[in-house]
Amino acid sequence: MLHCNILQIFTKNSSTWKEKNLSQNEIDDFKKAKKETGIITIASHTSYLINLAGHQKKKHLLSCNALKQELIRSSKLGIDYVVLHPGSHMGKGEDYGLCRIADSINKIFDETPKVNTQLLLETSSGQGSSIGHTFKHLAIILDRIKNNDKVGICLDTCHIFAAGYDIRTKQSYAKTINEFIETIGLKHLKLIHLNDSKKALGSRIDRHEHIGKGKIGLDAFRWIMNDPRLLDVPKIIETPKGNHVNEMDTFNLNQLKGFIN
Ligand code: MN
Ligand code: MN
Ligand code: ZN
Repeated sequence: MLHCNILQIFTKNSSTWKEKNLSQNEIDDFKKAKKETGIITIASHTSYLINLAGHQKKKHLLSCNALKQELIRSSKLGIDYVVLHPGSHMGKGEDYGLCRIADSINKIFDETPKVNTQLLLETSSGQGSSIGHTFKHLAIILDRIKNNDKVGICLDTCHIFAAGYDIRTKQSYAKTINEFIETIGLKHLKLIHLNDSKKALGSRIDRHEHIGKGKIGLDAFRWIMNDPRLLDVPKIIETPKGNHVNEMDTFNLNQLKGFIN
């Protein structure tokens, strides 16, 4: 038993464009299981193919439709949050990408007035031409979105570290969290992905590691687990799975829970 009350799932195959249509039975079963297991918060992660910042017409249309379907499907299931990677500008520049993402989200929100699942933009590691590796990027996107109650941020510790935000010392941890609060605001932080990083600070490479076994190390996770400002923010691990799924998940979760004073 893992004793979790927060869950992150995919509501469809994450590496295809093919959508999943839900039957009423599936929706009922899902809601029943949520009640029975005592899960409090559920997030769904969008397909990895989605890129709202792209300029290629066909792929952008597919991306907007996939996000729209994900929001509708998640809303039907009573899922709280949909997590999205902001996107990659593919050479067109950050300003172009930032506007393109915000405009796409505004359009999708206009088309889905009944959806009450919140969309969360995930901090990125800055791999390739991806956007969202600075807090400023995310603040700019949030600022351009008309319906502010429908969006929030998911902070991934591995990603921000790979993007260059240090959290390994008390000082650097304080500086990074304060910068997040000043730039984006705590009220927008809805979810935290707790992952250590296989790659170095500022490497801009996204490779998750078990808690305490990577380049971030244990201290940052101890501070996060005890930071009163982050106490009410749901936290999820996305650590490597490999062959010993439960074994390592148990290890990582126990490690984190053990930090709580
Ligand atoms: Mn992600
Ligand atoms: Mn993540
Ligand atoms: Zn990642």
